[in-house]
Amino acid sequence: MSSTIYELHGQVAVIAMNNPPVNGLGFELRRDIVEGLARADADANVKVVVLIGSPRAFSGGADIREFGSPKATAEPNLNTVIRHLENARKPVVAAIGGACMGGGLELAMGCHFRVAAKGAQIALPEVKLGLMPGAGGTQRLPRLIGAEAALDMIVSGNPVPSEQLKDSALFDEMIEHDLLPGAVRFAERIVAEGRPLKRVRDMKVSLANAEGFFQVARDTVRAAARNFPAPLKCVDAVAAAVTMPFEEGARFERESFLQLMQTPESRALRHAFFGERAAAKIPDVPENTPLRKIEKMAVIGAGTMGGGITMNFLSAGIPVTLLEVKQEALEKGIATIRKNYEASAKKGRLTARQVEERMTLLEPTLSYDDLKDADMAIEAVFEDIAVKEEVFRQLDEVMKPGAILASNTSTLDVNKIADFTRRPQDVIGTHFFSPAHVMKLLEVVRGAKTAKDVLATVMSLAKRIKKTAVVSGVCDGFIGNRMVEQYIRQALFLLEEGATPGQVDRALEGWGMAMGPFRMSDLAGNDIGWAIRKRRYREQPGLKYSKIADRLCEQGRFGQKTGLGWYRYEAGRRDAIPDPVVDQMIVEHSEEIGAQRRKISDEEIVRRLIFALVNEGAAILQEGISRRASDIDMVYLTGYGFPLHRGGPMLYADEVGLYKVVDSMKRFAANPHGDPGFWKPAALLAKLASEGKSFN
Ligand code: NAD
Repeated sequence: MSSTIYELHGQVAVIAMNNPPVNGLGFELRRDIVEGLARADADANVKVVVLIGSPRAFSGGADIREFGSPKATAEPNLNTVIRHLENARKPVVAAIGGACMGGGLELAMGCHFRVAAKGAQIALPEVKLGLMPGAGGTQRLPRLIGAEAALDMIVSGNPVPSEQLKDSALFDEMIEHDLLPGAVRFAERIVAEGRPLKRVRDMKVSLANAEGFFQVARDTVRAAARNFPAPLKCVDAVAAAVTMPFEEGARFERESFLQLMQTPESRALRHAFFGERAAAKIPDVPENTPLRKIEKMAVIGAGTMGGGITMNFLSAGIPVTLLEVKQEALEKGIATIRKNYEASAKKGRLTARQVEERMTLLEPTLSYDDLKDADMAIEAVFEDIAVKEEVFRQLDEVMKPGAILASNTSTLDVNKIADFTRRPQDVIGTHFFSPAHVMKLLEVVRGAKTAKDVLATVMSLAKRIKKTAVVSGVCDGFIGNRMVEQYIRQALFLLEEGATPGQVDRALEGWGMAMGPFRMSDLAGNDIGWAIRKRRYREQPGLKYSKIADRLCEQGRFGQKTGLGWYRYEAGRRDAIPDPVVDQMIVEHSEEIGAQRRKISDEEIVRRLIFALVNEGAAILQEGISRRASDIDMVYLTGYGFPLHRGGPMLYADEVGLYKVVDSMKRFAANPHGDPGFWKPAALLAKLASEGKSFN
């Protein structure tokens, strides 16, 4: 099958790209465009060519299905296709509708003329993958829309609607009605008028005080781009378009593109981009699994999580019946939801009308009878198995057959919860993160008996409420919290050996974490970890755990909510102020346990904490709790403030090299105050390291 459709409209040859969904510029499409051009060239009756896409997309750019395969760069590559277009003897008109992005826009700029439909989305988004355009985009766009506007688009990667660019040289005409007939008429007109071919490469960009302009641009971009090298390279490339002849600028662009391709930052961004897509795919659940209809939700419990969870659905236009045990708790929950929406309205993110529309989708109740019509219920009551049992037995009584019953539990066994009902196949875990209406991550916990269509339905629902959903098997803590427990354990060992909470947090934050472990614990509430530790002392008495955090909790220092934790907090403010009382307590604790305090480097701090995550992540993979290393990375990128430019703990370990990771772990195990048991590499990690392989 051809990836283009070639048609004659009188003297106009139309090459219609036909590579759904977005005319990704895969090998076949590139080849067929060149063939279409040759055919038009050979036909004496053809005077002009129109290159068009579908209403959805002129072209969305590179075909991501080819990424990393030899096909992606096979000739004719995009630069070759553009050369054919630009050097064609007969005029070529790009007719642009829908998405015109990346390589798609570069292709259009290789044509002699461009017409556009209203609402077409124009972008060079490569920077979002840590790259820059590599087929002339940085050289041609400034020639067409000016250096300043081009710089904005290339550095931000954001789409601009075609109307906004209608007065620039990018478009020769805006087409009011149907794109194809409009483009054909335009093509006939240029032939009739005998208009000369316009090659963008031959145009000049003029910019007054270019040097000053680019100096300011570099300073601004450097400050904003922080850990990413691509935006600054984009500035250099646009500067090259202004100061260098086209060929030289294009060479600079090409070289910079290839350099960026090799940076860990770009690898991390591409990993996250593909990781997000991969997470939605579940190996044994076919993509065409019929979904259950979800039009009405029920949420049980209007506390911190129940309220936030409810907001997700209201915001997506899905009605929610919210159930509580007591009128007072119900009213409080609703008031919080309204307060949150009104705060968004104050910031101009919602209109007053949208706030009311959302609130009218909410139906509060104290009676399970009102849940009869709901297609799915999410339980977010106290974390107590007896309370969960009572709730699930009632849900099982009232919910209609086929309704999905979900629990937001963080630590309880989803299989056990499922068995409280007569329909364990309809039960699943939906582990939201706090604040649930803000955080992107949703861990979808697949029980032993969860039906495939239930899993597929919840994954699709997650997309409707704009969450990044990652599937986890049932285990204590699921993916994210199970790993973070090891990270915190290790952070506490560091305190015993000589570090302070401030030093540990600074090291991690300097490395890129949004928040160090101690600020994070103060925010979440130190009592939560305390409860988990008490359980561990019972369940696994042999497990080595620093008692320093218990000392803190015994003094009621639960974190921000009590004004005191690892830091102290002043009323109405959230900044963590180091507290000498805590540092003193830590020093005394080290003495008590006979630990010789030493100066610990930031590098050791970072490695010990991140490798603690990696080792537990490896165990999680090995046990099949997670199916992909990239899923684990998505959990950390979207739920735990892991730095995007490092791509997640598992990718970071791959970048360091697993052999070196294991080697460092051996060194940590030899530490006299460490815990050799802690640093035993998970079997999967040991195996991959010894085979010279990686997680991804
Ligand atoms: P919360 O105490 O803020 O809210 C619980 C609410 O449930 C209260 O309003 C309570 O009145 C209500 N409730 C209790 N028993 C009920 C019953 N039988 N029927 C109906 N309502 C009942 O607790 P939370 O922080 O929102 O946690 C809820 C669940 O979410 C827990 O399972 C918790 O482990 C989990 N979770 C919490 C967080 C978090 O950061 N807080 C994160 C992820 C998951």
